[in-house]
Amino acid sequence: MERTILHVDLDAFYASVEQRDDPSLRGRPVIVGGRSRRGVVCAASYEARPFGVRSAMPMVTALERCPDAVVLAPRMAHYAAVSSQFFGILETMSPLVEGLSLDEAFLDVTGEERLLGDGPTIARRIKHSVRAELGLVASVGVAPVKHVAKIASDLDKPDGLRVVRPNEVTSFLAGLPVSRLWGVGKVTGEALARAGLHTIGDLARVGERVLAARVGGDAAAHLAALARGEDARAVQPDRAPVSLGSEDTFERDLRDRELLWEMLLMQADTVCARLRGESLRARTVTVKIKFADFELITRRMTLARPTADGREVGRIARELLMQVPGIEQRGVRLTGVSLSGLTGVEVAPPRQLALGLPADKAAEAAVARGEALGDALDRITQRFGDGALRRAIHVRGAGGALDDDAAPAQPKEPRRR
Ligand SMILES: [Mg+2]
Repeated sequence: MERTILHVDLDAFYASVEQRDDPSLRGRPVIVGGRSRRGVVCAASYEARPFGVRSAMPMVTALERCPDAVVLAPRMAHYAAVSSQFFGILETMSPLVEGLSLDEAFLDVTGEERLLGDGPTIARRIKHSVRAELGLVASVGVAPVKHVAKIASDLDKPDGLRVVRPNEVTSFLAGLPVSRLWGVGKVTGEALARAGLHTIGDLARVGERVLAARVGGDAAAHLAALARGEDARAVQPDRAPVSLGSEDTFERDLRDRELLWEMLLMQADTVCARLRGESLRARTVTVKIKFADFELITRRMTLARPTADGREVGRIARELLMQVPGIEQRGVRLTGVSLSGLTGVEVAPPRQLALGLPADKAAEAAVARGEALGDALDRITQRFGDGALRRAIHVRGAGGALDDDAAPAQPKEPRRR
C-alpha cells in the first residue's frame, strides 16, 4: 500500500524559542552557543545566516562574520520542555511518530484520512498548531517515503510545505544534487562528481552497475534505490529507544582538543536533555570521533550508576577524548556522544490514566495526561535543568547542543503548490 509520510522540522529551533520568549530579539541576528573564546555555535536565527553563521562553527568565527549578533547561552532544559509540547502536537495526528531530534520527526499518517484529512491537510494542521500553541514555525515535507519527505521539508524553509505525490517522486528528485541523498557525504559526492554524476537523476539514469564501479556494491544498491525514490524504512515509533545520540560534522576539521571537548560537552548536554525528556537514565557513554581521513573510532565507558547529567557525561567524554592519540596531527571532522544501557526513572507513566475510561472521558484524560507530563517535565527541569547547564556555561563557556537545522539556508525554489 502507498504510504503517506510527513517529515516535520522546526525552523531554527533554539534561536526561534529565544526570539519567541523575548520580543526584543525578533528580527535581529541571534546566535545560541558558548560565549567564551572557545565557545561553539549551537544555532543561528535566519537573520544571522546570510552572514555565513553556521552551527558547529567556533563562536570567534561567527562573531567575525556577524559582529552585531546577540549571543545567548543555550537553555537545554527549556528547549527539551518545548520539544515535549511539540511531540504532544504530533502525537495527536498519528500514533506513528519517530523523533529524530528535539525538533524533528517523521510521522506515518497513512489511514488517517477519514479522521484528519490527507497528508497535505495534516501537514497544514501541524503547522497551524505549532504556530498557535507554541508560537514557533515548522516546515513539513509530505511524500510516500521517508527520505523524500526529509528532503522536501528542507527545500522551502523557513515556513515550508512541500508535497511530493507518488507520481512526482522521480521528477522531484531528478534535478536535485546528489548531496541531498541520505548517506552521500563529501567522499562519495566527490567520487560521483569525478564520474560526471551530479544530480540524483544522473544516478537513477546510470543504474546500479555503473555506480558500483565508483562507490562499491553496497553503497551503489543503496544509492540507486534512493535515486529511484525507494526507501523501505518504516516510521518507527520510539517508545523505548536502545540508545540516544548527538553528533555533528564540522565545517572545517578541528585539531584543538579543548575545542573538541566543548563540542562533546554540548553534545552531552543535548543527549541528556532528551534523556530527561523521556524520563530515562543511561549507564554507558560512548564517544565517537571521525578523523579528517574518515577513520572512525569509538571509546566507551560504563558507569556504576545510571545518569542523565550532562556535566557528568561531559566529564567522561573528556576522559575518553584525552586517551585518543593523534588528534592535533590528523584533524577531526565529526564528534558524537551517545548513551546506552537506558533505564527508566520514577516519573509515573501518565498514559495509564486513559485505561478503562468510557470514550467521552478519553479526551479529558488526554488533556490530563498532557498536563501530567508537563508537570513531570517541570519537576525534571527544577531538579536538573537550567542550573546544571548554566554552571557548565559560566565556568567553561560551553554551549548546549547544536540545532542541526542551522545548516546553510537553501535557496528557495518555486513552490509547486
Ligand atoms: Mg530544525
